[in-house]
Amino acid sequence: MSTPTAIDRPPLSAECTLARQPGYMDLHGECRQAKDVPLPHSHGILLARRCGCTCHGGGDAL
Ligand SMILES: [Zn+2]
Ligand SMILES: [Zn+2]
Repeated sequence: MSTPTAIDRPPLSAECTLARQPGYMDLHGECRQAKDVPLPHSHGILLARRCGCTCHGGGDAL
């Protein structure tokens, strides 16, 4: 078992995940999950979680 320990942070969106690859940095600007999106008429349920990419700033400073 030599798997790297997963860091506790929000998952990256598909855009930012791909943007981590060389030559795809522009995709950071395509990310639409810069904030939490709650489901209408629902409390405490998120339609889409905020992207954990550091390009959005905010959150816990590392
Ligand atoms: Zn990003
Ligand atoms: Zn993002």
